[in-house]
Amino acid sequence: MDTRISSKLPNVGTTIFTVMSHLATETGAINLSQGFPGFEPPGALTDRINWHLHNGANQYAPMPGIPALRHAIAEKTQRLQGRELNVDTEITVCTGATEGLFSAITAIVHRGDEVIILDPAYDSYEPAIELAGGITRRVPLLIDQNGSDFHPDWQRLGDVINDKTRLVILNFPHNPTGAILSADDLEKLAELVRDTNCYLLSDEVYEHIVFDGEPHHSLANHDELWERSMVICSFGKTFHATGWKLGYCAAPAHLTEEFRKVHQFTTFSVSTPMQHGVADFLISNPEFYEDLPTFYQQKRDHFCELLAPSRFKFRPARSTFFQILDYGDISDEKDESLAKRWTREIGVASIPLTVFCETPFTATRLRFCFAKDDATLEKAAEILCEL
Ligand code: PMP
Ligand code: GLN
Repeated sequence: MDTRISSKLPNVGTTIFTVMSHLATETGAINLSQGFPGFEPPGALTDRINWHLHNGANQYAPMPGIPALRHAIAEKTQRLQGRELNVDTEITVCTGATEGLFSAITAIVHRGDEVIILDPAYDSYEPAIELAGGITRRVPLLIDQNGSDFHPDWQRLGDVINDKTRLVILNFPHNPTGAILSADDLEKLAELVRDTNCYLLSDEVYEHIVFDGEPHHSLANHDELWERSMVICSFGKTFHATGWKLGYCAAPAHLTEEFRKVHQFTTFSVSTPMQHGVADFLISNPEFYEDLPTFYQQKRDHFCELLAPSRFKFRPARSTFFQILDYGDISDEKDESLAKRWTREIGVASIPLTVFCETPFTATRLRFCFAKDDATLEKAAEILCEL
């Protein structure tokens, strides 16, 4: 037998998050690369999970998620986005956003369909599109004149949409740039897709981390867009628990039906005690996610103040727990090579941006995760200010 397998993903290597975190561990560098908080989930939440672990919640959960969690998600969506979700037909709990995105793409994309993603694009979208036989079309975000603010390029998106476009994948609040959508952006998007057959997949895992008093405009918030949207969220970001891999897909019934056909054979159902614990906590402690913008804005502001004397150019992030720094005045080395060298030589790990792009239009920029305790941020900033 020929043991060389014919790869279904010949151009895919190991994800940059694994590569950089591994290098940080190996070299003992401060790890501001892969995005995960340096603090624990709230004790009241882990107490509830613990309670359920010891009180019988240890067998398969229902395929779409336990009713209590779906109710808690519906209550939150109603309060924050004004959308009344049907608990039975419009919410599916999934194994983190990654599974939600994969199941949604698999459910919607047929061989030969075109799927538009916006560069820099989170790295799980394209392989899922490829496995479904779809063709990825990448539209870069627009960078403003001083080079530090990013926006969707609606005109270019409109130019790329054609009869074969089946899906547009959006990710706002945006990882890695922190770009957010305005109400006007949703109107522009509605105009673009109105007379098309394309669906929208909205990755909103940073829905609760938006700064400077700005609201998060979910696609669930817009009546016309909602009819063609699947919205993916993750409790990993919201509860400082990225290792739990717990998320959900909210979508109108006709889309949820197709989503569940894939979800039930991708994973079937999600960890039962986790679902119960999160359901209890969502209902009893909404202030936890309501206070998240303030919590992370303080982190962002602290990190940015520490970096003010540095030679990096930047605009404080509008959302997420990532800060982009432009190192153009320090070096002209390629970002991936520099991120690796700095991890080894100065002991701070980051994520290069061009790996998320078709063309290197984001050159000389690195992403730093500021979801860390102040001492870690201070140590990292001290090193970065010496460059
Ligand atoms: N989408 C984006 C934009 C993300 O940043 C992440 C993870 N950080 C995910 C999806 C995956 O989320 P999860 O860990 O819940 O699978
Ligand atoms: N989404 C996380 C980030 O942006 C990484 C998740 C992962 O490692 N797959 O850093």
